[in-house]
Amino acid sequence: MKGEALQVIRHDYHAVHSSGARPLSAVKFIVLHCMETFSLVGADEGTGSWFENLASKGSAHFGVDDDSTQQYLPLTAVAWGAPPLNYNGVHIEASGRSALDRPKWLGDYDPMLTREAWLVAHLCRELAIPLRVLDAEDLARCGDDPAHKAGIVTHETVSAVFRQSDHTDPGPGFPMAVLMDRAKQFHVHGHLVAVHKTEAGPQQDKSRKPRPIRRILRCHR
Ligand SMILES: [Zn+2]
Repeated sequence: MKGEALQVIRHDYHAVHSSGARPLSAVKFIVLHCMETFSLVGADEGTGSWFENLASKGSAHFGVDDDSTQQYLPLTAVAWGAPPLNYNGVHIEASGRSALDRPKWLGDYDPMLTREAWLVAHLCRELAIPLRVLDAEDLARCGDDPAHKAGIVTHETVSAVFRQSDHTDPGPGFPMAVLMDRAKQFHVHGHLVAVHKTEAGPQQDKSRKPRPIRRILRCHR
């Protein structure tokens, strides 16, 4: 893969918005977002630069694009990512847009997906979070138990369950099953043993309305 090694996490930007500190033991969710940007490389730098601006009104712990990974906040900081999962969540921003379809994610954004998969596996191991995706029902159920190590959710699921934001990232075309397959390979083997792009992911629900394109990250407290 071109770009930096997956394990390299850069700290070139520092998000200005956060809500104080938390113990690492409080973290039980990994929340997946996308940046709503067209850029493939330079996206995590651009997002970091935006998070350094007071006007951003949002923040996340990590940004990932095709060639690098940036950390904007320490894991002990409470990001402004997706209420009410800010205090308990680690928030990751992927390059790409909610409107992308599955072939696009698996094409241009494939190196980012591998990078994000490594990061998800790494965080799950470090924070003892199960490597599993929670749907809305799962999230609604586990939300009340502060001791319960939960799993991985999308911002879209957080919005659907708690209705404290209207964001729908990373969108219906995002290949969650591919991401999880790669994350599990990293979890088990420490590296990818195979790159599957065509296994059945979550089927597109034809009844869903087209998703609006979000303009930019605006995740208030
Ligand atoms: Zn989001």
